Amino acid sequence: MLLAVAIRPAGRDLEALMNDSEPVDLAVIGSGGAAMAAAIAARQAGRTVTLIEHATLGGTCVNVGCVPSKTLLAAAGARHGALANPFSGAPTSVLEVDLAGLVEQKDELVGRLRQGKYAAVADAHGFDVRPGHARFTGPDTLTVDGTPLPARAYLIATGAEPARPALPGLDDGDWLTSTTAMEQTEVPESLVVIGGGYVGMEQAQLFAHLGSRVTLIGRPAPAAEPELAEVLCAVFADDGITLVRDRATAVEHTGGQVVVSTRSGQRASGARLLVATGRVPRTVDLGLEAAGVATDGRGFVVVDEHQRTSHPRIFAAGDVSGAPQYVYVAAATGRVAALNATGAAGGRAATVDYTGMPSVVFTRPQLASAGLSRAPLRVPSPSPGRRAARTGQPRHPRRGQAGRRRRHRPRARRARRRRRGRRDDAGRHLRDHRRNDRRRRRRHLGALPDDGGVPAPGRRAVPQPDAHLLLCVRSASTVRALTVVDLP
Ligand SMILES: Cc1cc2nc3c(=O)[nH]c(=O)nc-3n(C[C@H](O)[C@H](O)[C@H](O)COP(=O)(O)OP(=O)(O)OC[C@H]3O[C@@H](n4cnc5c(N)ncnc54)[C@H](O)[C@@H]3O)c2cc1C
Repeated sequence: MLLAVAIRPAGRDLEALMNDSEPVDLAVIGSGGAAMAAAIAARQAGRTVTLIEHATLGGTCVNVGCVPSKTLLAAAGARHGALANPFSGAPTSVLEVDLAGLVEQKDELVGRLRQGKYAAVADAHGFDVRPGHARFTGPDTLTVDGTPLPARAYLIATGAEPARPALPGLDDGDWLTSTTAMEQTEVPESLVVIGGGYVGMEQAQLFAHLGSRVTLIGRPAPAAEPELAEVLCAVFADDGITLVRDRATAVEHTGGQVVVSTRSGQRASGARLLVATGRVPRTVDLGLEAAGVATDGRGFVVVDEHQRTSHPRIFAAGDVSGAPQYVYVAAATGRVAALNATGAAGGRAATVDYTGMPSVVFTRPQLASAGLSRAPLRVPSPSPGRRAARTGQPRHPRRGQAGRRRRHRPRARRARRRRRGRRDDAGRHLRDHRRNDRRRRRRHLGALPDDGGVPAPGRRAVPQPDAHLLLCVRSASTVRALTVVDLP
């Protein structure tokens, strides 16, 4: 369903608006998280704003992203909780899933939030959302369905869309994206998911908890700390999800089944296929070349730290600008872009501070983290000697004899000791975490099935772990905590 809403801005002359004789301070392409935050910031600074939307008001998060996925995950989690209930004194039972009913309920929620969090907010802040397709036709001309929309500055906030991987055979039959998967009205008997990023992980568990036999192909939770990803993998195995940690290389649609082959020659089959291999920038037919806006090798709009593109009056924010694909990041970049584009930032240009940026995979358990990952912190990192042996590089490539001498000075020795201490700390945290995790699993899971195998969905003889949060709090200098927090 497409829905576009046009709301008249407060304080703008209607006639001027109709013939666009007066330029707006900021024209924003899109109406998602980045666009809305930008518009609100600009209006709060007293600027005039027009948003342009060629599809559904609200963009990804409310329509096909965060909101629908989280409500369906909550529903599937409730079913799973009832099936895996470990308390015999408080029995639960489960009837057949009515996915059509769930999708209807999800659509009702999406509609309500779109009205309350987008249309009503635009109204309250006094900016209009104009339906139509925006396209640059020159360095200083933006058109909406062919009609120029003059503006003092422009913001590209066009988001991203599911990638179509170049897999031989993929398009020979039907396949799902996260968007179409959440429109299904019947739970597939079996499902192959390609992609272990957060969208793939969430969708895999969503359908497993609704009763599908799920196989996930890819590297699970690649952005998470490896130890946390491993815990999640163990839970996935308990959920009956088969993990194939490999790269999909080809797809075959045959006899009502989809068969996916992997690099190492494994084959996974299912009734349906869901592809979640990342999201690509939405820049088709935007006229970026005509406007002189540069993109990178993957098509994302190139921006500086102030969200400015290669064109001085055109800014970009959100998923399309290559920022981490989270709605709160989209909003933060949108706000910064608007302040800089309209001159409302004052003397010092605004920037987004990514220190402590949180991220969550909304699986059960949820995987939450904030700040830098251990990889850039190099904790624990191999010693220079081991690194040199592994890479064949000199121990200190940029240092000569003087550097080598310096390493023997007391300061260098102290620093080495500090580094070693940090590694030990991290190691201790990890050991504690693993021990606690084993204890927790023993406590919650009891004995594994007699055959040592994985309980199939719907045959849950083994109680599942309670919802808990895998929490990894990191700072620039040290790994502060690596723990499992049991939630009530
Ligand atoms: C399944 C899924 C689950 C997710 N879950 C979470 C989550 O739990 N938490 C989280 O933080 N993030 C989540 N995300 C990511 C989040 O939704 C996005 O990062 C965020 O919504 C991006 O916002 P945006 O403003 O950059 O783009 P969008 O919201 O995509 O908005 C772009 C808008 O621009 C419009 N547009 C594009 N081109 C034109 C044009 N030429 N003319 C006019 N209009 C145009 C589009 O129609 C669209 O409405 C999820 C994403 C997915 C797919």
